[in-house]
Amino acid sequence: PSVGEKYEYQAEVSRLMDLIVNSLYSNKEVFLRELISNASDALDKLRFLSVTDSELLKDATDLDIRIQTDKDNGIITIIDSGIGMTRQELIDCLGTIAQSGTAKFLKALKDSKDAGADNNLIGQFGVGFYSAFLVADRVVVSTKSPRSDKQYVWEGEANASSYTIREDTDPENHIPRGTRLTLYLKRDDKGFAHPERIQKLVKNYSQFVSFPIYTWQEKGYTKEVEVDEDPAEAKKDEQDDTTEKKKTKTVVEKYWDWELTNETQPIWLRNPKEVSTEDYNEFYKKTFNEYLEPLASSHFTTEGEVEFRSILYVPAIASTGKDDIVNPKTKNIRLYVKRVFISDDFDGELFPRYLSFVKGVVDSNDLPLNVSREILQESRIVRIMRKRLVRKAFDMILGISMSENREDYEKFWDNFGKHLKLGCIEDRENHKRIAPLLRFFSSQSEQEMISLDEYVENMKPEQKDIYYIASDSVTSARNTPFLERLLEKDLEVLFLVDPIDEIAIQNLKSYKEKNFVDITKEDLDLGDKNEEKEKNMKQEFGQTCDWIKKRLGDKVASVQISNRLSSSPCVLVSGKFGWSANMERLMKSQTV
Ligand code: ADP
Ligand code: MG
Repeated sequence: PSVGEKYEYQAEVSRLMDLIVNSLYSNKEVFLRELISNASDALDKLRFLSVTDSELLKDATDLDIRIQTDKDNGIITIIDSGIGMTRQELIDCLGTIAQSGTAKFLKALKDSKDAGADNNLIGQFGVGFYSAFLVADRVVVSTKSPRSDKQYVWEGEANASSYTIREDTDPENHIPRGTRLTLYLKRDDKGFAHPERIQKLVKNYSQFVSFPIYTWQEKGYTKEVEVDEDPAEAKKDEQDDTTEKKKTKTVVEKYWDWELTNETQPIWLRNPKEVSTEDYNEFYKKTFNEYLEPLASSHFTTEGEVEFRSILYVPAIASTGKDDIVNPKTKNIRLYVKRVFISDDFDGELFPRYLSFVKGVVDSNDLPLNVSREILQESRIVRIMRKRLVRKAFDMILGISMSENREDYEKFWDNFGKHLKLGCIEDRENHKRIAPLLRFFSSQSEQEMISLDEYVENMKPEQKDIYYIASDSVTSARNTPFLERLLEKDLEVLFLVDPIDEIAIQNLKSYKEKNFVDITKEDLDLGDKNEEKEKNMKQEFGQTCDWIKKRLGDKVASVQISNRLSSSPCVLVSGKFGWSANMERLMKSQTV
């Protein structure tokens, strides 16, 4: 019974709770994963802040999570010694939807409804604090922030539109710092309060939590106790004439105690040989709130000049569509220093923006714990780390491209092809790594994209250059008169149909010492010049050209006899140093 100030939930919260309870009913146990992950986040925050402010730790130096169960009354209590919440934070965090996990859940729910996907998928999402109401009628959160000298209690009930907050003045409830969450389970869910059940769930869901999680377990030890001999036995003994011997029996002494229930070594510190793909994928999904398995992962340690460990992932889909190309602040890389989480707020320090879709963790022993943005930006160590990380990311992508399963790379290219093309423009240093990963349609492969290697392999023995045409679609590329002569000679032409393609290719300039050549430029040389024939043509048609030029005036730079056409009467080409027609169109529409 609480007498506290009453607050209404933000409207979306009520709706969200409804959704959670109704769509997750079959997968209720996720509540524990969510609440443990909040406790772990709170401990991470505290550990991070305490690096610069050791005062924060003074009341309680143990950073852990403790889960107690009362099976007779159906109560679960989760206690963490983390950062806690002030009164205002209670209102902001537990009364509004401002949080990542829950917002993502809502979106996923909508997407999966739109796609007609089944509700099971949703169980894999981070649904946050409100998942407590999956199993509990009533939730009481008592919390003490080191920034506040008071402890507060938040109390809410399932299916209610409001909650209360009051100060916790009961000395029995006092906690030095952190949060104690008490769940009063619904009648049908009281089974979750069995200590063995909780232990099993913790093992299952909290494999990757790097703080110790203790559960309250009944223990027993055996001991020998002396027993009074019963008279009949004693008599028998006498008859057997045995010497004096005391009788004992074994009894089990029961008691309750905290038991460490999880393994706290972070997965990146383990030996890669002992970690399965499933473990990596699980870690990925839990750490980044993802529901799809990654396309690839890479776990490595670097030694020498700079030492760090890392696990990198290529996601299966771009997280915010094309937005993250322009906004590299994706929270995709989590930086740890000596296992302490430091930050996931980077802006190109560890990966160039075109690779900002790569997710992962990086743990360094060489950076100072109180590393700041400024230090990161200027650090030589970070520059070396960045180089290595980028190299590893490319290896990983190359691995996908060489996979037996062509679909994987198609998926990758669909989602992140644009990023790599941006890399051609922004990262000259890595051209050699990016170029083999590019894919284009071509005059000989209009359905399936080809790589530059495939193009080069298919080149004619006398062919020196790589031909391309930029256009707005495969159909219009195929239908240009520029193609005629090349098709006749069976020369393959790349179709650059994405607006960024042409600029990317122009930045690359060449691949395996073969220049990229735009077939619409006026000096196109197919290596079949016939001087005699040209001279004759000039004599025959020179006057016609002059006449046409006169008629068209300033509309064209010049009118020339062409040797690139076979069936069309004429073609408009761009000057050697001018923009291509495609580029001109782009510049006009300002899309680049
Ligand atoms: P998310 O974890 O994605 O932010 P949640 O709904 O799980 O969303 O939690 C909402 C917010 O409530 C958290 O961001 C955090 O600020 C606060 N919170 C929840 N549990 C705790 C806790 N045990 N200690 C401190 N703060 C917490
Ligand atoms: Mg959470």
